[in-house]
Amino acid sequence: MTQSDWDDSAFETRAIHLGQEPDPVTGAVVPPINLASTFAQDAVGEPRAFEYSRSGNPTRAALETALAGLEGGAHGFAFSSGLAATDALLRQLEPGDHVVLPDDAYGGTYRLVNAVHRRAGLTFSSVDLTDPAALDAACTDRTRLVWLETPSNPRLRVIDIAAVSAVAHEHDAWCAVDNTFATPYLQRPLELGADIVVHSTTKYLGGHSDVVGGFAAVKRGLDELAEGVGFVQNATGAVPSPFDCYLVLRGLKTLAVRMDRHSDNAARIAAFLRDHPAVGEVYFPDGELARKQMRAPGGMVSFTVTAGENAALRVAGATRVFTLAESLGAVESLIEHPARMTHASVAGSPLAVDPALVRLSVGLESADDLLDDLRGALDSV
Ligand SMILES: *Cc1c(COP(=O)(O)O)cnc(C)c1O
Repeated sequence: MTQSDWDDSAFETRAIHLGQEPDPVTGAVVPPINLASTFAQDAVGEPRAFEYSRSGNPTRAALETALAGLEGGAHGFAFSSGLAATDALLRQLEPGDHVVLPDDAYGGTYRLVNAVHRRAGLTFSSVDLTDPAALDAACTDRTRLVWLETPSNPRLRVIDIAAVSAVAHEHDAWCAVDNTFATPYLQRPLELGADIVVHSTTKYLGGHSDVVGGFAAVKRGLDELAEGVGFVQNATGAVPSPFDCYLVLRGLKTLAVRMDRHSDNAARIAAFLRDHPAVGEVYFPDGELARKQMRAPGGMVSFTVTAGENAALRVAGATRVFTLAESLGAVESLIEHPARMTHASVAGSPLAVDPALVRLSVGLESADDLLDDLRGALDSV
């Protein structure tokens, strides 16, 4: 079978087989972890498929084929972290170019733009991307990239990918979507009009809290952009190890069943929190727009504790099944306080987070155990 033979298959089938056909020599049904750093050449300057593992590696190639295909992209590039993937994209811009960021985004993305690329001459604006008119007004004749994250971190806001892409294209800018929270099983931005999808594979794609990685997929037809991202991948060398690529490939195979269960568990928890007297706002992407562009809401739920910051801190420290930790998207449930943990780097910026907010990454434990755990923590404040 070749890649295109899987085009008519469903997502679940493609996640297991795309780029991962049995090894032609041994028949191994799992792509080997190919640790070679260099590959024999037939003659001077005549490498075979691979030459040197920063430039390309068979295990990485399997991941790049699989994940680019699942996103519906023509090109895929694996990186050593999500931020390395974002950085490779930002490096496609020139000094003086302008980037639009959402006003609710992963703190590290904001830091990368504000503290690294701004020094290299990029300019940026933070905009409420739930309002396409605000985006239109923020674009300048130097705007080349509109970045969005949906559902967003940590407020789980849903942004209309088709609408934002359309405005970006009117201004001759690319639209890039951080699809980390949704994954291609729940949402495929390239099919909705976006040009680039970026992932932290550290989260749901790896899915087991045992790998840090990133990915960028580029839409069919944007060959020059893809070439530029591939050039930076090789030139700066922030590539994942073959073992890390294997772990993400392994995660992809169970992605669909995991996301279904993450979504079911999170929906029960969101319903419980919406009824709880100690809870103020509950953020969970199950509204009309979410249902239009996502298959299911995913596993992230955020909420405010009515009694304020100190009570929120006590809740985050009082659970037993939910582990107090940063990161998200794995089999075990996590709880955190964004203002002091994941989003400390955006304090005082337009992206600053309500200190009464608590974020949950709902895992695959029994929903009943998770509800008991949260009930106990909320009753203690
Ligand atoms: C974690 C995360 C990132 C950064 O990814 P790393 O793998 O930690 O570099 C980017 N975007 C979102 C939404 C994330 O959750």
